[in-house]
Amino acid sequence: MARERYDVIVVGAGVVGSALAMALAERRLSTLVIDVDLSGRLSSSEKNAGGVRATWWQPVNIALCRASIAYYQSVAREVGFRQKGYLWLYDAETWPKALDHVELQRSLKHPIETLSAREVHARVPEIDRLEGIAGATFSPEDGLINSNLLKNHYRERSRALGAEYLDGVYIYAIRAERDADARLECWHADRPLSDAVLMRMMAQDGPGDAETGHLLNLRAGAIAITGGAWSANVLKLLDLPSFSEPIRRQICVVDNRETNFAAYGMIVDTSGVYFHNEGPHILAGYSPPEEPPGYHFQYDGEQFFQNEIWPRMYARMSCCERMRHVTGWAGLYSVTPDRSAIIGCAAPRVYEAHGFSGRGVMQSYGAAKALAGLIADGRYPESLDASALSRERFADDRLVREELHI
Ligand SMILES: Cc1cc2nc3c(=O)[nH]c(=O)nc-3n(C[C@H](O)[C@H](O)[C@H](O)COP(=O)(O)OP(=O)(O)OC[C@H]3O[C@@H](n4cnc5c(N)ncnc54)[C@H](O)[C@@H]3O)c2cc1C
Repeated sequence: MARERYDVIVVGAGVVGSALAMALAERRLSTLVIDVDLSGRLSSSEKNAGGVRATWWQPVNIALCRASIAYYQSVAREVGFRQKGYLWLYDAETWPKALDHVELQRSLKHPIETLSAREVHARVPEIDRLEGIAGATFSPEDGLINSNLLKNHYRERSRALGAEYLDGVYIYAIRAERDADARLECWHADRPLSDAVLMRMMAQDGPGDAETGHLLNLRAGAIAITGGAWSANVLKLLDLPSFSEPIRRQICVVDNRETNFAAYGMIVDTSGVYFHNEGPHILAGYSPPEEPPGYHFQYDGEQFFQNEIWPRMYARMSCCERMRHVTGWAGLYSVTPDRSAIIGCAAPRVYEAHGFSGRGVMQSYGAAKALAGLIADGRYPESLDASALSRERFADDRLVREELHI
């Protein structure tokens, strides 16, 4: 560490914390990012589907995604951003709701077309079973990104501007008062954590006495909590509720020799299954609504594919008959009651950005730019006002509801 005191310490170096480090460093704030595992073995930023879209139902979510998309376009090659659009199929129940929001999305300058079932088939001939499609939207500026490249891009750029990253650090006490620097007590691992120890720590909250480590005291003008699905554990140290809960989400890679979806971006079926081309394969996910909260990382493998993915894809596309399971994994969504992120000032000198509910990659740039403005200037930049996402909304009943597809 180059300093005894930092302007800001960021807790959590996933895609959101790394984006925030870049935005803070661009504002010339000295920034230290700490993470228990910088390689992100359990981090959601390493386990997502790479979807980027701005077709949300709330202006603030659209605005943060639009800002991110504009940035991803500017570094598209470096972060693997492929602007191939989102094709979203709706059934009779959800189609009127989708149509209600198309005008809002257009008014916020996010282009979106509406399609009939026949037009869907004309555009994607593989979709040949049209039963149950009441309508569809296609948003051409949305697409897919390589979230690992994106995170590395944020880290490299922030490092070049002076930000520092410290690995193997787990925070277990915080003192934050209005009139003094924030103080952090952390445990710093003496050697890289094994998979088993990391899993135990992250599933059970804390280092315990499992590995050798030493005490590390840190001091900063402010701290920013970007601990993803573990943010609750950090907020608890300040007696603050997190309002979010971790929920397992599974995704799998499948082989289907008969098809190649490389020309398309993300496709979301009426059944909730979503998929896109992934190298020579297809990446497909589905989020069962009954999934219980908890730090669960078990991947159900072939069973997940057979029960959740294959029947839905084959019901929509006859070409998927001989599709087979290759591999897959499970990661965590951090889900809030209204399914929008929590961004803002949580307490004096304590800032937060978490609870992205399946939107952290696509909002990371916009959310970070907004929060860095709040930290540096005490107010959001005019073009990126995220005040609707403050934690106060839960007490004041000003929920920022997003409904479809989490
Ligand atoms: C299957 C799946 C599909 C998804 N698909 C998409 C998608 O298509 N598009 C999209 O935008 N989003 C998607 N998401 C969601 C997205 O991955 C997350 O919203 C995003 O990665 C959250 O980033 P983060 O930086 O907030 O959290 P994380 O990436 O989880 O990072 C948090 C970091 O904090 C560290 N940490 C936590 N607690 C502590 C502590 N006490 N001390 C030190 N370090 C700590 C962790 O080690 C971790 O590295 C998906 C998620 C999953 C699981």
